[in-house]
Amino acid sequence: MATPFSSLAELCEKLEKISERIPKITLVANFIGSLAEQEIAPAVRMIIGKIFPDWSQETLEVSWGTIIKVIKTLTRASKEEMLEAFSKTGDPGEMARMLLEKRKVIRQLTLMDVTSGKLTILDVYNQLKAIAKIKGEGSRERKESILETLLSRVSPMEAKYIVKIILSEMRHGVNEGLMEEVIAKLAHVPLELVERAHMMIGDIGEVAYIAVKEGYEGLRKVKMRLFHPIKPMLAQQAESVLEALKEHGGVTAFEYKLDGARVQIHKKNSEIRIFSRRLTDVTQSLPDIVELVKREIEAKEVIVEGEVIAVGENEKPLPFQFLMRRFKRIREINRLVKEIPVKLYLFDCLYVNGKLMIDEPYTRRWEVLEEIHGGIPLVPRIITNNANEAQKFFEKARNEGHEGLMAKKLDSEYTPGMRGKKWLKIKGILDTLDLVVVAADWGYGRRKNWLSDYYLAARDEISGEFLVIGKTFKGLTDEEFNEMTKKLLELKMGERGRTVFVKPEIVVEVAFDEIQKSPKYKSGYALRFARIVKIRYDKKPEEADTIQRVQELYEKQFKSKAKEPR
Ligand code: AMP
Repeated sequence: MATPFSSLAELCEKLEKISERIPKITLVANFIGSLAEQEIAPAVRMIIGKIFPDWSQETLEVSWGTIIKVIKTLTRASKEEMLEAFSKTGDPGEMARMLLEKRKVIRQLTLMDVTSGKLTILDVYNQLKAIAKIKGEGSRERKESILETLLSRVSPMEAKYIVKIILSEMRHGVNEGLMEEVIAKLAHVPLELVERAHMMIGDIGEVAYIAVKEGYEGLRKVKMRLFHPIKPMLAQQAESVLEALKEHGGVTAFEYKLDGARVQIHKKNSEIRIFSRRLTDVTQSLPDIVELVKREIEAKEVIVEGEVIAVGENEKPLPFQFLMRRFKRIREINRLVKEIPVKLYLFDCLYVNGKLMIDEPYTRRWEVLEEIHGGIPLVPRIITNNANEAQKFFEKARNEGHEGLMAKKLDSEYTPGMRGKKWLKIKGILDTLDLVVVAADWGYGRRKNWLSDYYLAARDEISGEFLVIGKTFKGLTDEEFNEMTKKLLELKMGERGRTVFVKPEIVVEVAFDEIQKSPKYKSGYALRFARIVKIRYDKKPEEADTIQRVQELYEKQFKSKAKEPR
């Protein structure tokens, strides 16, 4: 028997009300356990709000504007009513539910409507996939029309979750990590096995299916798939080389931290694909790097990682903004290759000729890299236990125009998607936070045509909510203001007075003088003299810094200043 979509919506509704992990896990495990085989993967993907896995280059491409338009048509709500519903709920899905409940839905009586009963999990999933497939001219209108029919055929509560799935904003606390625990419980297998299978195939839906259908043996047989990017290992910040040395037990590898774009390069014979840190396929933007890898790396099958930087005369590094131009206009790529020369430095090897390297220690992975890199440079590095030597190396990196150093623990494995202490970044400025722009004000005077005063938010690890901790109009060039205005308007969810509220999507790196406790924002914290250092198009909002880290930094600043918190 096909499971109705309403059961999935009810599950999510229940999850919203539970805060403890274990009951959440039990609830989801029972639900998935009750599904038919072919429903498992689609349901798991929809529960976490991801129709497509991270590595897939497919996207739904349904904007907030489209959703608003469809809800408006279905409910005939006025602009004011919509705004009121949004500011009351602060949640797009909940807004849709409220408005749909209030108004009698104007049904589009299509033949399907009359003949079909309740929509099943697979119906909704397939409709969403059909929306994603629509491309080219008139696609917006066609997407609108499918969505309109879909939303007119479900209850307001189901519509709430369809909107939330489309926007990938579930806010019920079941993320991929928790889903891994659900799968482990459901299939009676160790969590590590689920994590590993997930890392290798990068699709939690498929992992759930394999776990339920084939159990332990099935998961163990999962193999690495070339051209499916692996989530990158990330670093925490350290204040100094000394702190890094201490953290890594007295000796560590210091590598230059280059200020460019991280790339994960997959090679199988002469086929080469390059993925960004966000797992987007950027091969077309880097034809020169493709040629370089083809020429220099002889090994048949590899996955290597490195940083691509833009370089000027004498190969001097150029700012990150230059490089970003490379990724914007694929059609003009031949011109851009000449205008913006880039250089690749490698720093890791994750896979070589059938052997997965991620469980090998850092030192071994570097050795393999040394064997296979051909003429491609590796990032400059030293291994030392001497803080003076490390400090000199840091200054050398900074003087040559690089960002700072990365410290990598010698015996550390490569842990995909994890931001741990095995890798530490040491930058020039004391601390920066990666924050998400959640709203912006129209500027005054010279900036009057730009959304130029940004509300900066950190992520709450527990609820997944983005909480504002500061505001700034400092740090961007005119060109960047222009670009930000355009992008933010595309992400607009509502407005009040001079403020435009946007879908949390754009990440910015923010420097500041101090973190203060403040009642001004719900988060309880406020940044003093915040300024944007960089727009981080390479980062996803889930990668932004958390309120928990803000709290940590708040406490740390008193330790370093030897004062009591105010
Ligand atoms: P952050 O973006 O500040 O979190 O720092 C992590 C980023 O630094 C990585 O995603 C890479 O793009 C970049 N990076 C630069 N040099 C290195 C290196 N030697 N090892 C690892 N990551 C590096």
